[in-house]
Amino acid sequence: MLLKGKETADQIKIEIAKEVEGIVNKGQRAPHLVAILVGEDGASKTYVKNKELACQKVGFSSTLIRLPESTTEEELLSKIDEINNNDEIDGLIVQLPLPKHISENNVTQAIDPAKDVDGFHDVNIGKLTKGQDTFISATPYGIIQLLDRYNIETKGKHCVVIGRSNIVGRPMSILMSRSGNPGNCTVTICHRHTQNLETITKMADILIVAVGIPEFVTGDMIKEGATVIDVGITRVDADNKRGYVLKGDVEFESAEAVSGYITPVPGGVGPMTIIGLMQNTLKSHQNKFNG
Ligand code: NAD
Repeated sequence: MLLKGKETADQIKIEIAKEVEGIVNKGQRAPHLVAILVGEDGASKTYVKNKELACQKVGFSSTLIRLPESTTEEELLSKIDEINNNDEIDGLIVQLPLPKHISENNVTQAIDPAKDVDGFHDVNIGKLTKGQDTFISATPYGIIQLLDRYNIETKGKHCVVIGRSNIVGRPMSILMSRSGNPGNCTVTICHRHTQNLETITKMADILIVAVGIPEFVTGDMIKEGATVIDVGITRVDADNKRGYVLKGDVEFESAEAVSGYITPVPGGVGPMTIIGLMQNTLKSHQNKFNG
């Protein structure tokens, strides 16, 4: 059965829009998200555009700051500082990846943790790890909500996460093991040095794949009835108008045949990631106005 991220995200957007309407009716300004895009990466442009469209849909203000590829780290940090000090802005994201001459770490750590709606700042990752209230990184947050909306039982289940990146795999593994719902899983985290991967994935009740290799997981690696969350999105060259197709990290056909629930690509985790971002921005606004 499909876990329809797009449909779920559309429903949550309606709920957020209602909250925003209430905020504006109270006389407060709407939540405001700023995105910085450095350079001309095609996929990044699409992601940022989708985030802008989502802002419009829920009634947020949004500002896109486009900077040339040649922007220096110093210039970018100074722009971040300006936004950190602007009270009219609730959330700031800097679209990754950045040009090679700019340190992603310096940039993510320069964002005020109170405006870090991507949840990449060390302070927010630390709070997440300790189970404290924080901005949960957008992709894991979106996945948690998708599991929740479909009432997927996680308590006591074995969750296997493939990938240990700071933005997806690692926070995902922490969330699934936390005391809470969704959560309370026994978690195994796998990465490029994991041996006998297939033996481990076959033990998963919930399998979350964030590797970045198209169709890396096949149906024969999945336990009958498991829930499969495919985070991967890779542009693979194709002979069509766009010149590419989007592929997930899971081979959909063979995986769908054995799984209980599965996310499609596109239309699964991607739209839910944007929801995570919207909700973090709303939360930042509420923190500011309601303490
Ligand atoms: P990453 O490259 O930072 O991390 C990949 C992880 O996969 C690493 O931890 C690595 O150890 C692991 N890995 C690599 N080869 C492996 C192997 N052979 N066996 C087991 N593990 C292996 O990637 P990321 O930023 O976590 O993103 C992963 C994928 O998710 C990418 O396709 C990315 O585009 C996609 N993504 C999608 C969304 C979304 O909104 N849908 C958001 C973020 C990332």
